[in-house]
Amino acid sequence: MEILFSSKLKKDGKTLQILLLCTECRGELEVMTTAANVRFRCRKHGELGSLSPAQFADGVRQAREKASQQYGLGKPVSMKIGPRDPTIQ
Ligand SMILES: [Zn+2]
Repeated sequence: MEILFSSKLKKDGKTLQILLLCTECRGELEVMTTAANVRFRCRKHGELGSLSPAQFADGVRQAREKASQQYGLGKPVSMKIGPRDPTIQ
């Protein structure tokens, strides 16, 4: 299973939005979190699979590090994980 972690920096420069997207259609995924795992579902492609909370946290951390380099963020910013925030382009 592959999911895409997409990150955008809000205009205030302080909030990083992380979206979880389907690698096939780039649709935003529904995320269902349970104690045991994190499951992802695409509206078009159905259930994509699941990650352990640790794997998920790792993916988020990597996306955040990548975004920090991309945007040259020197200090930690707050982070929002989906759904898409309309104030972020
Ligand atoms: Zn899809």
